[in-house]
Amino acid sequence: MKTIRPSGLPPSPAPLLRSEPDRNCPLCPRLAAFREATRAREAGWFNSPVPSFGDPNGRLLIVGLAPGLQGANRTGRPFTGDFAGDLLYATLIEYGFAKGTYLARPDDGLTLADCLISNAVRCVPPQNKPLPAEINNCRPYLAATIEAMPRLLSIVTLGRVAHDSTVKALSLRGAAAPFAHGAIHQAGALKLYDSYHCSRYNTNTGVLTPKMFRAVFAKVRADLL
Ligand code: SF4
Repeated sequence: MKTIRPSGLPPSPAPLLRSEPDRNCPLCPRLAAFREATRAREAGWFNSPVPSFGDPNGRLLIVGLAPGLQGANRTGRPFTGDFAGDLLYATLIEYGFAKGTYLARPDDGLTLADCLISNAVRCVPPQNKPLPAEINNCRPYLAATIEAMPRLLSIVTLGRVAHDSTVKALSLRGAAAPFAHGAIHQAGALKLYDSYHCSRYNTNTGVLTPKMFRAVFAKVRADLL
């Protein structure tokens, strides 16, 4: 499939044709071993690299950190089945980027509108903490996902890891786009919107309130009218 890089960005050094890794991707030995151990323990769970969800022709890409053990790693759909999904999908429905009712199950019929959700790291990491080498290993899939969105105009990154990996995937200088909640960075024709991750920890500690989170998507919606 021919892909179009958003205008104004440097050429990608080595674009991948595929944006989704194999089910048994071996590139991160620690994560592959964790995946196998979880498969042995929880045979009914998804337990594989979690594919992106939504519309590849959308104008908005949301980049999370990695699947949660009992969330996306269990259900196979990003942000589905754990606390972070409750806030994310409620907000996407409120701002017209999702339609239907979110029931925390991949068969709940929820669809995304003009939007795709992906993760910087596709396999569940122990304690939700991928190692730097694992983030690097998975970045080509993020870069390929970006490459495969011909109408892309906006990227919301959830948390510093997602932000930093997205900046590198776009071949931008990190110093030109430092992470800060609510910050907006211009990258050619693309706008990057930073948000703290919508994790239970961040919301329980008040680092991120629903109001702060909604404000990010209100800005995206206003820009994508
Ligand atoms: S995190 Fe990404 S690169 Fe690493 S094993 Fe999983 S799919 Fe492969």
